[in-house]
Amino acid sequence: MNASRPPVVAGNWKMNKTNPEAVSLVRELIAELGASPPCEIVLCPPFTALTEVSLLLGGTAIRLGAQNLHAEAKGAFTGEVSGDMVRSTGCTHVLVGHSERRRLFGESDDMVAKKTRAALASGLSPIVCLGETLEERERNETAAVVTRQLEVAVLGLPPDAVPRLLLAYEPVWAIGTGRTATPAQAQEVHALLRARLGERFGESGRRVRILYGGSCTADSAGDLLSQEDVDGTLVGGASLEAKGFARIARAAGAAR
Ligand code: PEP
Repeated sequence: MNASRPPVVAGNWKMNKTNPEAVSLVRELIAELGASPPCEIVLCPPFTALTEVSLLLGGTAIRLGAQNLHAEAKGAFTGEVSGDMVRSTGCTHVLVGHSERRRLFGESDDMVAKKTRAALASGLSPIVCLGETLEERERNETAAVVTRQLEVAVLGLPPDAVPRLLLAYEPVWAIGTGRTATPAQAQEVHALLRARLGERFGESGRRVRILYGGSCTADSAGDLLSQEDVDGTLVGGASLEAKGFARIARAAGAAR
């Protein structure tokens, strides 16, 4: 963490929470954190709960994000949701290229690049996710994989888009497995990503917030966030429970 980059904690609820369950979770979270949370917080519920959660978050500083969007602005794409639709629910952020989208729904680097541009065109802040599989790490390909993902999705963006961009380094082997990357492993990749962003975009590239994601809990968050280039966390499983998620947000606020 670096004082010039305010910490962000984002919660990816994935395909969890009906609307009544989403309402309870958000009410509990607001009760835990108050109207002015200890760090920037972004909640990413499923599409179905966005409007309802948005109404509850009105008057708080907690931000809303979607988990996905379609690359096209509108048209005959049954079942899909555009950036403008997402934005019209009150979202300010959207996850792009989560490894579950890449792995289970066939999203290529090119598709992630198109979605990143679509998010920006709709006035959203994309949280672009990247990370290597276990096999890639074991073959010492981590740097090559994340560099390729970054190059395709991000390095071709116009410089004026960069202040709205966030990255999430999420090693695939750490997501939902209970196996968190060590703080040193996270720092190494975050530093590499920041260096590439800096080479391409200069100071605004170096200021992009890079979150770590992968089995982050209230117990592991503090050590991860103590690393110079870890600017926050993207939290899956541990974001489904208000007390634990609030502890992660407090750890991020304290690491500032
Ligand atoms: C995620 O899906 O973005 C994630 C980080 O999940 P988990 O925290 O459950 O590993």
